[in-house]
Amino acid sequence: MDCVFCKIIKKEIPAEIIYEDAKSLVFLDIAPVHPGHSLIVPKEHHATLTDTPLDLACHLMSVVKKVAPAIMQATNANGYNVGINNDAAAGQVVFHTHYHLIPRFTNDGLKLWPHQTYQEGQMKTVADRIRKEI
Ligand code: 5GP
Ligand code: ZN
Repeated sequence: MDCVFCKIIKKEIPAEIIYEDAKSLVFLDIAPVHPGHSLIVPKEHHATLTDTPLDLACHLMSVVKKVAPAIMQATNANGYNVGINNDAAAGQVVFHTHYHLIPRFTNDGLKLWPHQTYQEGQMKTVADRIRKEI
């Protein structure tokens, strides 16, 4: 399988690895939003969060919790974003589950996403549809 993150995990291609345990690896994103932008990945290949077993996804979040204070401290960040792009429509480019951890700085000018407003009644319709699927 031609997966760049599997190659990093197998140490076939280099990366700035900052943390490793039996089930996960954390390394710096090669094209960071800010220096210190890190990717938390499972060692097992799963394409998206949807495909990732729950216990593994929970483990990855525990790793996020572990490395976040270190990244904050080391970069003097004032905050951080944790994000997962799932599927191409959401901007996923590498189809191996990964959590982005992005250090943020006061007034760094980044705007995450634009907001819109609901039409009359639309909010309840959408909520009803979602509730039915859960
Ligand atoms: P996605 O859009 O799939 O959520 O994000 C993939 C991320 O992986 C991007 O931010 C990109 O910069 C990073 N990336 C892609 N290829 C490599 C690589 O070979 N090494 C590292 N360290 N990061 C990579
Ligand atoms: Zn992979």
